[in-house]
Amino acid sequence: MKLKNDGPFPFIITPQDEDERFMLEALKEAWKAYQREEVPVGAVLVHQKQIIARGHNQVEMLKDATAHAEMLCITAGESALDNWRLAETTLYCTVEPCAMCAGAMLLARVPRLVWGAPDIRHGANGSWVNLFSQPHPTHTMSIRTDVLRELSAGLLKEFFQKRRLENDRGFEREPPLQGS
Ligand SMILES: [Zn+2]
Repeated sequence: MKLKNDGPFPFIITPQDEDERFMLEALKEAWKAYQREEVPVGAVLVHQKQIIARGHNQVEMLKDATAHAEMLCITAGESALDNWRLAETTLYCTVEPCAMCAGAMLLARVPRLVWGAPDIRHGANGSWVNLFSQPHPTHTMSIRTDVLRELSAGLLKEFFQKRRLENDRGFEREPPLQGS
């Protein structure tokens, strides 16, 4: 995969079911993040088969470690429904949510979660920890994983490879160390 920041949305696929259809929309959000040189993660919140909120990772732009796609999406969804309880919703995330986002989903009572690619470092649905392995005292969430996994993972891989190349080039421009 060779992706240009100013290129069109790179994935042309026919969704096989409703989850893939909405995950494709979350991937469009991840693509926005990619184009803005943010770690490409996207999310959409669906209520009664309608997308009511979208979000993409904005950690760099907002200089805020909590500005994850899912958090922005949850906040926007609460505004859209005028309610902090996100009843009858499904949150689609291109990447396995971290502990913060998983916690926010429990607090907002999101009944269903669908995610794409695992996050080895921060994933809170089994990759690092599993916040959903034990039943919660007041809220149950149903989960589907690995939806369009290869596309989400491919976008992340491309992003980190590109950033590594840019960092290497930056390193070459550094002046040699004094006295070395
Ligand atoms: Zn998160």
